Amino acid sequence: MRDDNEKLIKNIRFQLKCMGEDPDREGLLKTPDRVIRSWDELFSGYFEKPEDLMTTFNSDGCDQVVILKNIEMYSMCEHHMLPFFGYAHVAYIPNKKVIGISKLARLLDVFARRLQIQERIGEQVTAALMKYLQPKGAACIIEATHMCMRMRGVNKQESVMSTSSLKGVFLKEASARQELFQLIKG
Ligand code: ZN
Repeated sequence: MRDDNEKLIKNIRFQLKCMGEDPDREGLLKTPDRVIRSWDELFSGYFEKPEDLMTTFNSDGCDQVVILKNIEMYSMCEHHMLPFFGYAHVAYIPNKKVIGISKLARLLDVFARRLQIQERIGEQVTAALMKYLQPKGAACIIEATHMCMRMRGVNKQESVMSTSSLKGVFLKEASARQELFQLIKG
């Protein structure tokens, strides 16, 4: 991507013109360059692999729910390239392996920092946990507000979208699901 910086800068200057702007006015001169550099963070997920985070430890028989709540999440919607953001709760029930708790937040970022739809982020997080950790169950609940709804379109300012991807016992057993949602609320 970065080999084409010159082309990209031209392209963003063209976009600015299409919006009705003058890309040569002082405030905008360095904007294309800044936009490209901001992609390093906004879209860093494309250059990270979930398996690189999955250093596991023996669970020593622990089979209680492990949950990291209220993880700040920022993503960009693939339909409008506008931000959506909110909080995610990521949980699993270990089988034989556990991972460092901070890895749950980093795993979320691997998938959130791309062009996305909210539903797919949760799905990818739980699929990665199931694949690399083989837990008894995995869950990812996301509550987010979408700028493409707030700034344009239906202009709904207060709407929050909730998605919940549940796998294993969280899907199959009502009691596990209940415990999960109690932990999230509590
Ligand atoms: Zn959108």
